[in-house]
Amino acid sequence: MNLKNLWAPWRIKYVQGLGGSSECFICQNVKSPQNDTANLVLWRSPKCIVILNRFPYNNGHLLISPLRHIGGLEEATDEELLEMTKLVRESQKALSLAIRPHGFNIGMNFGRCSGAGLPGHLHIHIVPRWDGDTNFMKACGDTAVISQGLTELLEQLKQISKEHNLPQWRKPS
Ligand SMILES: [Zn+2]
Repeated sequence: MNLKNLWAPWRIKYVQGLGGSSECFICQNVKSPQNDTANLVLWRSPKCIVILNRFPYNNGHLLISPLRHIGGLEEATDEELLEMTKLVRESQKALSLAIRPHGFNIGMNFGRCSGAGLPGHLHIHIVPRWDGDTNFMKACGDTAVISQGLTELLEQLKQISKEHNLPQWRKPS
């Protein structure tokens, strides 16, 4: 993932929070559907969860994960892999309709040395890109502004999902 040129100063809070004793945040989100809006959960599917990254590299940065806390592709089932791939497709569609990116970085990091912030729980990054976006968010590096923007974007993506027959948020069974 060629993200080095993106300038994302709000990520310092995330980086500083790493290494604490807190439980994996994806597992926390999986277990707390009542907090899905606060946790920026966009979709739940039978085997996966899609979350708007609170510490985005760029506007609309989504994370797609299996519900199970597994670290590597070799531990994922075919069903999980298929569902994740379908969700990549649906995420691209929803983001394209919502915020019209010019391109995407989509990828996975394995191991801390690769830049994986959360090596224990498999996740695919969907990072929208725009021409010239290396300066895109410099004007709003304020974390409060980012949070408000994320909540609005979450609602927008949910609305688009309804209108375009994309995955819906569903209560876990
Ligand atoms: Zn986990």
